Amino acid sequence: MAQQNAPGGTNPGDEAPPGTPGTGEALCPVCSGTGKVDGKTCSNCNGSGRIIEGIGGG
Ligand SMILES: [Zn+2]
Repeated sequence: MAQQNAPGGTNPGDEAPPGTPGTGEALCPVCSGTGKVDGKTCSNCNGSGRIIEGIGGG
């Protein structure tokens, strides 16, 4: 794994840092949770296949 998460643990697709109240993990909509797009690491989730998004009644 040459790629690392950005400091703070957030990826471009994250809506909030992990652990933020009212947020939760969700499958990355760009790579559908595979972590790869066209054979390359997904830039939206940084290859994790998951993003942090807001949940609950909004
Ligand atoms: Zn992704």
